[in-house]
Amino acid sequence: MIIKVLTLFPEMFQGPLNVSIIKNAQEKGLLDIEYVNIRDFTSNKHKKVDDYPYGGGAGMVMTPQPLFDCYENTIKNLHSTSKPRTIYCSPKGKTFSQQMAIEMAKEKELVFICGHYEGIDQRVIDELVTDEVSIGDFVLTGGELPVAVMIDTIARLIPGVLGQKESFQEESFYSGLLEYPHYTRPKKFRNLEVPSVLFSGNHREIEGWRRRKSLEITLDRRPDLIKKAELTEEDIRIIEILKNHGD
Ligand code: SAM
Repeated sequence: MIIKVLTLFPEMFQGPLNVSIIKNAQEKGLLDIEYVNIRDFTSNKHKKVDDYPYGGGAGMVMTPQPLFDCYENTIKNLHSTSKPRTIYCSPKGKTFSQQMAIEMAKEKELVFICGHYEGIDQRVIDELVTDEVSIGDFVLTGGELPVAVMIDTIARLIPGVLGQKESFQEESFYSGLLEYPHYTRPKKFRNLEVPSVLFSGNHREIEGWRRRKSLEITLDRRPDLIKKAELTEEDIRIIEILKNHGD
């Protein structure tokens, strides 16, 4: 996948996306990320990229000229014949989710626009953006951290990025439920024991325990997900027991 990130602060990405699995994905050639500095495209002699909002109000707005020029110059080198999928991170966008990431991971090319200050001129959004996406109901200083979060989430879903050992199929949200708890060696640590079913060797029992834990955790923390999840008759029976007795 080719990803282009249009940003005023390319240096912000050097840490989070240059380690571990995402670094390996780039080294294996599965992911190619380019950070393009929007400021390099401003025609303002003082390199300004923002201005006061029409109509008054607090803060500054990123002007359209550097963004349009940066975008047009960047997409020239992409393969997409028409407009590439272009995501603007914004608190006003649709909330990012695992489902959205699964769908975006199928794209060959993605363009991300990072806003700053009060945001970007609406004409950029109207003309260039295909998806306006928020990472949650809170406001950050800029779009760089949200874009890093989105790229990390999307990149690990690209076939070949995760090894077999790190499959995402069993992770939270994939099946519509939150994931069960994990334990590793030693069996006993400071008098804290691992549930014995996990070293019973009985795969059916382990599966059953994990499913029950998933249901329990989801019911407790995210009952909204239970309503949407695909449940078996056995799941429904377990949920009824959990609701009535709490165990
Ligand atoms: N004035 C904007 C509003 O009230 O909706 C907030 C602007 S925010 C200070 C600056 C930039 O940070 C935004 O343009 C956006 O790119 C990014 N940003 C902030 N919070 C975000 C969030 N929850 N999700 C995605 N991007 C966010």
